[in-house]
Order: sequence, then structure tokens, then C-alpha cells
Amino acid sequence: MPYNKPHPAETRIISRRFDLPNSASIDTFLAHEGFQAFLKASKMSPDDVIGEVKKSNLRGRGGAGFPTGMKWGFLARNSPKPKYIVVNADESEPGTCKDRLLIEFDPHRLIEGILIAGLAGDAHRGWVYIRGEYRYLIDIMDKAIAEAYSRGWLGKNIQGTGFDFDLSTHSGAGAYECGEESALLESLEGKRGQPRIRPPFPAVSGAFQCPTILNNVETFCAVPDIILQGGDWYASLGVPKAGGTRLLCISGHVQTPGVFEVPIGFPMMRAINELAGGLRPGRKLKAVIPGGSSCPVLKAEECDIPMDYDSMAKAGTMLGSGGMVVMDDTTDMVKAALRIIRFYQHESCGWCIPCREGTLWLKKILTRLDDGIGVRSDIDLVGELAENMLGRTFCPLGDAAAMPTISIVKKFRDEFEARLAHVKLSAGAESLVRIHA
Ligand code: SF4
Repeated sequence: MPYNKPHPAETRIISRRFDLPNSASIDTFLAHEGFQAFLKASKMSPDDVIGEVKKSNLRGRGGAGFPTGMKWGFLARNSPKPKYIVVNADESEPGTCKDRLLIEFDPHRLIEGILIAGLAGDAHRGWVYIRGEYRYLIDIMDKAIAEAYSRGWLGKNIQGTGFDFDLSTHSGAGAYECGEESALLESLEGKRGQPRIRPPFPAVSGAFQCPTILNNVETFCAVPDIILQGGDWYASLGVPKAGGTRLLCISGHVQTPGVFEVPIGFPMMRAINELAGGLRPGRKLKAVIPGGSSCPVLKAEECDIPMDYDSMAKAGTMLGSGGMVVMDDTTDMVKAALRIIRFYQHESCGWCIPCREGTLWLKKILTRLDDGIGVRSDIDLVGELAENMLGRTFCPLGDAAAMPTISIVKKFRDEFEARLAHVKLSAGAESLVRIHA
């Protein structure tokens, strides 16, 4: 997805340095308020830093939307063990491509957010866990970290504040599952990236069994402005229970796909029509995946809503990771469901049966329906199988596979029916087809 120039309808805060020449360099950063928030935070108590983040109503931008200040407040700061900061840069949700821009164009903002989290959590060591496919970003981040060390913004006694912090990158190996925080921690420790049973949560036992603050790139990047301008200011940009702005990645059948920064609560249809330039000429909106492929889809008539957590939940979907996929009336929804499930089946780590077997069978049945050799009962079977995965898996990947599938089958059932085998089967033959699928 291309990086787009600022659009007048955007509210650029975390992306405001993207257009500066050499925006990734430490000199550019320092010339544009870089590390001022860290210096301010270094004079505050950890409780005050956390208090400001709580006031801001910042919610995790990775997908789950958990309140960040509350998460930081859970950190076992009194533990005798070292505390750690881990950044989730394993951006793998289909449709989502914003963390990579933050690292590519403003990596020092991320370092500053990490340092502030370190002050809040009395942590002195951190890692940026970057997905393996983002190889070029690892180089950019490594360069930024080296610059920060050489200029005294990382290491011992940072700028005379008495605060020490060491930071490095860690490369993932290309597993979607490692975007789940506990699987990410396993992978960071050099083990197979499979989720952990929780509790304990990372705030108590995270990286190397030590208390850990773990957030997404965009979440850390929001923190410097919260400290500089105040939590109340940030909160006022959004809606009552969710403050600030977020990056929307709009892709699919629009004229100007891209990544745009908007306040939480920005209307979805404005995002499609103004930011992304509207649909292709002569086409009509059919459906939108609003926040990454794991979110239930919305039909065109459901899309006239503000993009905030509550409104999206009321519409039966989620704000997710900000990856909006717009589909026009040329979209084959059977193929869309199959494409999504093929991804999750491929990425299932195989640990729990509902996900391992469920995604496999969903793929088989959807393939059969797509090939035009399915039977009527297959449509119900897809819904039934997906419903049985919901809430029955160790990590959210099972739900992530089930939710879009259920919504597509429910909302576009006519398209599945139109693909049924054009042969009349007896009830007995239908069940044989099911058994031998
Ligand atoms: Fe692994 Fe899927 Fe179970 Fe998650 S839900 S633990 S990815 S098998």
C-alpha cells in the first residue's frame, strides 16, 4: 500500500513528521520536539506518567483495544525481578500496514514512547519484535537505535537524567501467531511461537518470566504527545471512552488506498469517500472489513457509522487494527470467505483442536462451495463449525477465523446458495458428501 501525502480531512499527530526530509534521522527528530516528552516524563513520578496515559483514554492500537494506562498500571513494579518493555511490531493482520510506516518514517518517536514506558514501569531493557517479512524495517530500526545510543538517548544515564535503558530489535520468523502477545514472548525467548496459558499476564510474568509492558507500535508512538500536551488534550480528540487519533489503512476497491490518521469516531463513509477517494467509477459498495480480516464484515447499508469501539460493537463488528478492506459489487463473497479462511488455516499453530481442525474443515467446505460442488447443508455446516470455534480456543486466532466467516455466510447467504451443485441429491447422498469431503 502506498504512503499517501496528507489529506485535509486528516488529523496528523503521530504521522506529522512523515513528510519532513530525512524524517527517520535523529537530527530531524530532535529539531521537531524529539525526546522533549521523555525529558518531561523524566521529571514526573511513574504514577504521574501512568496517570496521564490513563487520562488520555488511549486504547491499544494492535486490535484488542485494551486501555493502555490500565495495562501499565497492572505492571508488578514492586517485583524484585527486572521489568521489561516489549514492542509488538509483528504487524501481520491482513489489511493492516501502519506500524511499518511509523517505523519507516519516524522510528525515534517509537524509541521515545518506549523510554517513557520504561520510566513508568521502572524498566531498563526493551525489545522491538519485528515480523521477519519486514526485513527492511529491522535495518531502519537498528539504525535509529544506533543513532540514539551514539547521541546519548539510549544507554547509561540518558541525557543526565540518571535513567538507563537498553534497546534492541528482535526478528520474528513470519508467523501471524506471533502477533498474539504471549506467543510473541515465547518467540522472543527463542522458543516456538505458541501462546501461553494465561493468567499470569505479561504485566506479572512476561518476557523471561519478568513483569513486562507489551504494546503495539502505534500505541507506544501515541505516548510522547500525551505526555507533552497532556492526557486531557489527547482524550478530547476522540470519543468519551477512547481518546486520540488512529491510523486507518484503507485498501481494496477504492481510488486512493493509503494510510490516514483520523480521530477515533471518524465516520466510516467519509473515510471511504473522502480519504480513499471513493469507489472505482460506476461501482457500488458491497461490504467492508472494518479493522483487519478477523473482524466481522459489514454490508454497505451498515457502514454509515462512526469508527469508535462502541459504535462498531453495536454494529456487530470491531475497530480492530485499523485495516479497512473495501469491497465493491464485483466482489465474490464466497471467494472472499475462502481467501480469509485459507489464511487462518495456514497460520493456525495447531495447538488446539477447534482451531486446527476447524480452520481445515472450513477451508475444505468453502473450497467445495466455491468450486460449485457443494450441497445445501454445507452452508449451514460452515456456520455451525465456525460458531463452535468461537470462544473455544487458547488464543484469539480461532475467533479471528470464525467471526468473518460467520458474518459473510449470514449476510451473503444468497451468494453461497447460487453456487450449490446443480444436481438434486437425496438426503442420504448429501450426508455421504459430508462424510467424504
Ligand atoms: Fe494455535 Fe489456533 Fe489454538 Fe491459537 S487458536 S493456540 S493459533 S491452534
